[in-house]
Amino acid sequence: MSPVRTTCAYCGVGCGVLATPGEGRSVTIAGDPDHPANAGRLCSKGTHLGETVGLEGRLLHPMIGQRQANWNKALDLVARKFARTISKYGPDSVAFYVSGQLLTEDYYVANKLMKGFIGSGNIDTNSRLCMSSAVAGHIRALGEDVVPATYDDLDAADLIILIGSNTAWCHPIVYQRIQAAREKRGTKLVVVDPRRTETCENADLHIALKPGTDIALMNGLLAHCRRSGVLDETYLKRSVEVPSNFWSSLDNADLWTTAKTCDVPASDLATLFDWFAATPRTVTLFSQGINQSVRGTDQVNAITNLHLATGRVGKPGAAPFSITGQPNAMGGREVGGLASTLAAHMDFAPENVERVGRFWSAERMATKPGLKAVDLFRAIRRGEIKALWVMATNPAVSLPDVARVRDALGRCEFLVVSDVVSETDTSHYAHVRLPAAAWGEKDGTVTNSERLISRQRAFFPLPGEAKPDWWIVSQVAQRMGWHDAFNYHHPADIWREHARLSTYENDGRRLFALPGHSGALTRTYDSMTPFRWGGQPFADGTFPTSTGKARLVTVRQPPLEHKSAFPLTLNTGRYRDQWHSMTRTGLSPKLARHRDEPRVEVHPRDGTAARLVDGGLAKVTTAVGESLFRVSLVESQRRGELFVPIHWTDQQSTGGRAGKLTRPLTDPISGQPGFKSTPAAVSPQ
Ligand code: SF4
Repeated sequence: MSPVRTTCAYCGVGCGVLATPGEGRSVTIAGDPDHPANAGRLCSKGTHLGETVGLEGRLLHPMIGQRQANWNKALDLVARKFARTISKYGPDSVAFYVSGQLLTEDYYVANKLMKGFIGSGNIDTNSRLCMSSAVAGHIRALGEDVVPATYDDLDAADLIILIGSNTAWCHPIVYQRIQAAREKRGTKLVVVDPRRTETCENADLHIALKPGTDIALMNGLLAHCRRSGVLDETYLKRSVEVPSNFWSSLDNADLWTTAKTCDVPASDLATLFDWFAATPRTVTLFSQGINQSVRGTDQVNAITNLHLATGRVGKPGAAPFSITGQPNAMGGREVGGLASTLAAHMDFAPENVERVGRFWSAERMATKPGLKAVDLFRAIRRGEIKALWVMATNPAVSLPDVARVRDALGRCEFLVVSDVVSETDTSHYAHVRLPAAAWGEKDGTVTNSERLISRQRAFFPLPGEAKPDWWIVSQVAQRMGWHDAFNYHHPADIWREHARLSTYENDGRRLFALPGHSGALTRTYDSMTPFRWGGQPFADGTFPTSTGKARLVTVRQPPLEHKSAFPLTLNTGRYRDQWHSMTRTGLSPKLARHRDEPRVEVHPRDGTAARLVDGGLAKVTTAVGESLFRVSLVESQRRGELFVPIHWTDQQSTGGRAGKLTRPLTDPISGQPGFKSTPAAVSPQ
């Protein structure tokens, strides 16, 4: 059989995959040499995709309670329960919690149903946990959620700063691309991260800053650029609005003060400052270390300020670059899958609500943003949201303070879970479980970190009674009375509608700022090759704001949290060969070899002080919970800090549970939880 061109199931790098099906459920996996994101390369997770496509643990039939049901009965029940709840308590009494694992077409239909027909903004996504601070920061600075960089910028940069990103493990193909650029053009690499991760190994400089001091670092760097005369005054005048208090807010940020605040050697900081000032082609790539913070949006804006003030935006090799974690977090952003956006990147301004409503022929439009993930589960716990539909995600593991999330799920009057997996920590609470199609069985599009749109294609038949998510949502919508608006027969129908909405011109205004969008409409769905919305973003120096200018945003380093009962700082993150809650990667024996159990990483001197033994067991405690981990004493940890992985669930282990430890504190603008710095204590067991 000839190979099927598809896209990797995992991270936001969005690598092209050639999948050649064999006997039964076997498939041979290779990198697609013609895909622009990876040019044939795959990381360990992508390489072993073929080991993860078996039917072990799959949900293959609709289930009502513990009983198998037919689709008609299950869909009728879901539609009836949602309709009754809405009729009795109003549209805001129901919610969807969806996922960056959904394809864009699935996302589009779910968003349209909630925001255009149910009439509530209560659809949020696990992407809230991943990059919503970048979204909020982009909107504040650039006027719209447009990532101002592409992977080509990494090839063209002379200096790359990775901040809060273990790129070597979490985005391995991007890391390989950076290493290739370094070999080819001598690009310098700086890693800013409290931990000495694998990404630091070949870096030219590692700034092991104190957690939570990123704003001080960026403001200090910007003040240095101003003192050194490397601000781009022409660009500032033409393309950037500067608040009146902006420069005075940086006045005290000299090198020594910044080094002290960030707790790093002044000589290292001086090197970073000098390299940045001298290198117009600089890309600052950031990820969860920036986004997953209660100051995430301000941190994004501190980075963006630096690039705008030095005119390093919209030019080859010069941009701030937020790299997404999930395979289709960006597709969700495109269609409005976040509670805080409407559709096609628009907000809930009355004229936008009217335009989208007209386009959809909507029955009842949401007129305001819905609840963001953490607040949404709080509302369920309070009984304000009574019916919830969770699609392709496992909030009982991934949200902070999972004890309260589980309590909320247990109180939910009607919980629907659509998933490929039969038993998850979340589906344990479900009244109805709906079997969804998995990677290799479903068709649609995904958008990667640089906004490249690629196809995922099916190469296996649907197993059992599994169905694509877009079909399941459309069937429920039709049963709720909206037959014509959800009468889709193929994901291509949905794609074309999404492309039309994104290119929709109304009252002389295009709804989406990037040029080149209309090409999407002329593409043939089945033979679609990867393409990007528009070219180099913001190359003409104009921005989708009312003045046409970008904005510097005044951001100040907040005081660091005082610690008492919990003297250490807990950081969380990923292992190289696992993905989220391991429902897929956990099936691969080869991937399990890299790290076979969750470990708490501790600096040896902290370990000695706490009487920990390398390889022994320790209890990590925070204000919200505790969990057991095996101990790794490693010099790569900063003193005073702990690191644990996010992947383990009740299905795999009783200990090693990061979600039991993190607090439900969120960024006030983006609503993204601060997973990276929880006060914690550790003791031997
Ligand atoms: Fe898949 Fe990401 Fe690895 Fe590429 S880098 S193969 S998209 S997991």
